[in-house]
Amino acid sequence: MLDFARGSAQKQSLVNSFANSLYAVWRTRHGRVAEFRDAAAPPPERLLQVIWQHQRLCRDRLCTLDGQSVRVLHPGFVSVEGGPDFRGAVLQIGDAAPVSGDVEVDLRTSGWRAHGHDRNPAFRNVVLHVVWETDHSVSRVATLPLCAALDSPIVELSSQLGRVSLRTLPENLRGQCAAPLRELPAPALTELLCSAAYVRLQNKAAALRVRAQQVGWEQSLWEGLFRALGYKHNGWPMQCLAEQRARWAAGADSPFHLQARLFGLSGLLPVELSQRSARADDYLRRVWDCWWREREGFAEGVLPRNLWRFHGLRPANHPLRRLALLAHWVHAGELTIRIECWSGAVIPDRQLRDSLTNILQVADDDYWSWHWTFRSARLKQPQPLLGAPRVTDLAVNVILPWLWTRAVAGQNEKLRSEIERRYAAWPAAEDNAVLRLARQRLLGRSTLRGGIGRTAVEQQGWLQIGRDFCDQADVTCAGCSFPELVRGMQRPPPASGGR
Ligand code: SF4
Repeated sequence: MLDFARGSAQKQSLVNSFANSLYAVWRTRHGRVAEFRDAAAPPPERLLQVIWQHQRLCRDRLCTLDGQSVRVLHPGFVSVEGGPDFRGAVLQIGDAAPVSGDVEVDLRTSGWRAHGHDRNPAFRNVVLHVVWETDHSVSRVATLPLCAALDSPIVELSSQLGRVSLRTLPENLRGQCAAPLRELPAPALTELLCSAAYVRLQNKAAALRVRAQQVGWEQSLWEGLFRALGYKHNGWPMQCLAEQRARWAAGADSPFHLQARLFGLSGLLPVELSQRSARADDYLRRVWDCWWREREGFAEGVLPRNLWRFHGLRPANHPLRRLALLAHWVHAGELTIRIECWSGAVIPDRQLRDSLTNILQVADDDYWSWHWTFRSARLKQPQPLLGAPRVTDLAVNVILPWLWTRAVAGQNEKLRSEIERRYAAWPAAEDNAVLRLARQRLLGRSTLRGGIGRTAVEQQGWLQIGRDFCDQADVTCAGCSFPELVRGMQRPPPASGGR
């Protein structure tokens, strides 16, 4: 047996040899260790976010600037749509009852005002401002400084966590259904996702059918397309524009004419030239010349600019570009008929998306194929007004549900089953942060496995389960019945009692 002194020396030499091991050297040389080494400098904000997510804190002595204890019952989920860094945290501050709210992480207390959080409604539900250190500024939100609350020196935490993705949920933040779902055989999981997606198809179809009863089938399709092209945040102003379609579509003699009307009605027409791009300014002048003559007649329908949201939007998805595309569709006419013909054509699975793209894609637009907005410089290469991922979104969220509910209403069994076949076979949409978070929370990993997640219908399944169960439970999954339902799928059916 080693005596204490000899044991310590051996342990130390073991630690040194681990620190200099081949793997440790590889890790450092090949950028697997974050660069932050200066304990005297403030750490990168992203590192603070990972530390918060993994709760690498002395959790029993967290204290706000005004001396209240902080108990973190759940750190929340990293935000995938901008706004505060973490959503839905559960915290107990001082003697108050636990509250659920958002957490914002900044380097310093002054970040609250400097980044405009105090004026941004998206930050209304922030219950804790986590900072590295304090400076002259204080905010109305409870503030927790981290610099003296870490469970290890910051340089060590940087080495351990600096390259950890915020998108990878720590094991203890995964949903209670993750374990039973992981045990489910792949075919059973696929079947579960497909049946959840089928509910989603029916729900979307029902909304389109109800609207069609009020405004007709064609208008309900147009409204669905406008809403889908508004994405999550601009669906409502797009719906308002679609509802006025009969007025603004009448008598327009070109896609440009329709664009001028839609831009004017949207309230998004800039009133000043950019002075940066002669081409962009020339186009804006022409739009104004056109809109100027007509705007009085449309004045009642002009939307306030503040109805639109731009935070986190990709340039290609800017509402102006989407309206430019819609103007082409409306001007070309017969979109409904072309979609109906497409539904009746024989199309192999592998050509489904391309065949619909052929119907929806438009020829180059002189301006919008080359610009993201009224103020952006001309692009080096023309960009399509509609990409393949958006075609998939339109297919699974609007076009297939619309065709399906029409087939059901018309008792056309053949068409209904053909639409269901297309829905099941549609290739997956672009993976995104919402889907990755859903998979991580529900399945315990963000990556795809064994063919799971290769179709749009499986993605729709994840989203539906998230809506039906995760959205109804808190972040700790309290009271969620989904894990039990999944476990029930693994049990053998009860033996029949009869002889
Ligand atoms: S709320 Fe339910 S469905 Fe969502 S992750 Fe938790 S256990 Fe799973």
